[in-house]
Amino acid sequence: MSALSNLIDYIKQGKKREEVPHGYCPNCWGRLEYGGQFYKAVRKKEIDLNNIEEHKGWIQALASQYLYGIDLKKKGTEWECKQCSTKYEHE
Ligand SMILES: [Zn+2]
Repeated sequence: MSALSNLIDYIKQGKKREEVPHGYCPNCWGRLEYGGQFYKAVRKKEIDLNNIEEHKGWIQALASQYLYGIDLKKKGTEWECKQCSTKYEHE
């Protein structure tokens, strides 16, 4: 699954701000300038199950603005966050 479809699932499921979308760094997500900003913008836009498909491009743009670098990249057997260099055993 791509990072974008993980985010779309995350929004569809109406997750809480503290919960981290699959494939993103939990360490960085907790900071306001990443997850917090992303979450706030999504709430403000009032995206719901009926209109989420047509907002895919907007979500993608938002992710590159706020979540750039905190999506985990596979490195050998681990997953690494480029932003804070934290390594995770699993996704
Ligand atoms: Zn991180």
